[in-house]
Amino acid sequence: MHLLVTGGCGFIGTNFIRLMLEKHPDWSITNLDKLTYAGNRLNLLDLEENGGRYRFVQGDIGDRNIIMDLLAGHAFDAVVNFAAESHVDRSINDPTPFVATNVLGAQNLMECARQRGMERFVHISTDEVYGTLGDEGKFTETTPLAPNSPYSASKAGADLLARAYFETYGFPILVTRCSNNYGPYQFPEKLIPLMFLNAKSDKPLPVYGDGLNVRDWIYVDDHCLGVELTLLHGRPGRAYNFGGDAEEANINVVRTLLSLLGKPESLITHVTDRPGHDKRYAMDFSLAAEELGFAPTVDLATGLKRTLTWYENHAAWLEKVQSGEYRIFMNTWYEER
Ligand code: NAD
Repeated sequence: MHLLVTGGCGFIGTNFIRLMLEKHPDWSITNLDKLTYAGNRLNLLDLEENGGRYRFVQGDIGDRNIIMDLLAGHAFDAVVNFAAESHVDRSINDPTPFVATNVLGAQNLMECARQRGMERFVHISTDEVYGTLGDEGKFTETTPLAPNSPYSASKAGADLLARAYFETYGFPILVTRCSNNYGPYQFPEKLIPLMFLNAKSDKPLPVYGDGLNVRDWIYVDDHCLGVELTLLHGRPGRAYNFGGDAEEANINVVRTLLSLLGKPESLITHVTDRPGHDKRYAMDFSLAAEELGFAPTVDLATGLKRTLTWYENHAAWLEKVQSGEYRIFMNTWYEER
C-alpha cells in the first residue's frame, strides 16, 4: 500500500505514520504537511534520513497545484487526511485559518483526489462535531451534527462535504470521528503535555471552570488502529465513531497526573471557563466494533503512565518544542521553490 498522509508532522499523524510503517513492512508513506506551528518535521526525521519507505513534502492541502502534481506523479492507493487546525482556543481567538484549512483545504484535497480517480480517502474528524451531551447518553453516527466552537464547526463543514462527495459523485470517502487523544508527540498546548510540563516545574496547572467537563480519553495508538481498520475494511460513505471507553472529568485526569508525578494538588488553579465549553462527550463506537472489529486496547491509567514515561524520556524533544527550535524547517519548502 502506498499512502498519501496529510498533516503527518502533527501529533496523531506522527503516531499513525510510525505505527503503520512498523506494522506493514510493504507499505510506503508520503507525508504532505504545511508545517504550521503544530507541525514538527523533527518527529519523523529519523525516517526521512533512513530513506526508503517514508518521504516528506512540505505543502498546503489547500494548494491545488501541489496536490494535483503529487497525485499525478505517484500511484497512491489511498489518502488519509489528518491535516487541520486543531486547537479549540485558537479557533476562538481567530476562526479564519480553521475555515481555510479544515473546510476549504479539506474540500480541495477531496476535489483533487476525485479528479485524479483516487479509490480510497479517509478523512479524520472528531467527536466535537456532535456538540455536547448531558449526564446521560452517547454520540452515535446518527446523532445530528451540532458543533459549538469555530473548530468543531469547521470540522463539521468538512464532514458534510465528505458526505456530499459520496452522495453526489460516488467518491469513495470514509470519515472517522474520534474522542480526545493523548500520548507521545502531543504539542504542549493541549491538556496532558501542558499539565506535565507545568507540574514538573512546580508551576500552576490551569483548569477551565470547575474542571468537571467530561471527555472520553483514547490512547493515540488506539485511534491509529481505528484509522487503519477504516482504511482497510470500512465501507465508503460511512462515518465511524471511535473512543477509548474511558470517560473522565478533566480535573480527575489532572489529579491522576499530579499523583503519578508525586506533585501536590495545590498546584491546580481554576481559570475562567472557555466560552461555549462542551460539558460532556461520550462515544458509542459499536458500529466500528461490529463492522471493523475495533476495540480500544489501552486503559486510561496505563495510557497516562505510558505517556508520562514518554515525556520523561524525551526531554530533548520537549526542549526543542518549547524553545521553538523545531520551527527551523518552517517555510523551507517555499524558499526552495
Ligand atoms: P495537530 O495540530 O497536532 O497536527 C495538525 C498537523 O496538520 C500539523 O502537522 C500541521 O502542520 C498540519 N497542517 C495544518 N494545516 C495544514 C494545511 N493547510 N496543509 C497541510 N498540513 C497542515 O493535530 P492532531 O491533534 O494531530 O489532529 C489530527 C487530526 O485529528 C485533525 O484533523 C483533528 O481534527 C483530528 N482529531 C484530533 C483529536 C485530538 O484529540 N487531538 C481528536 C479527534 C480528531
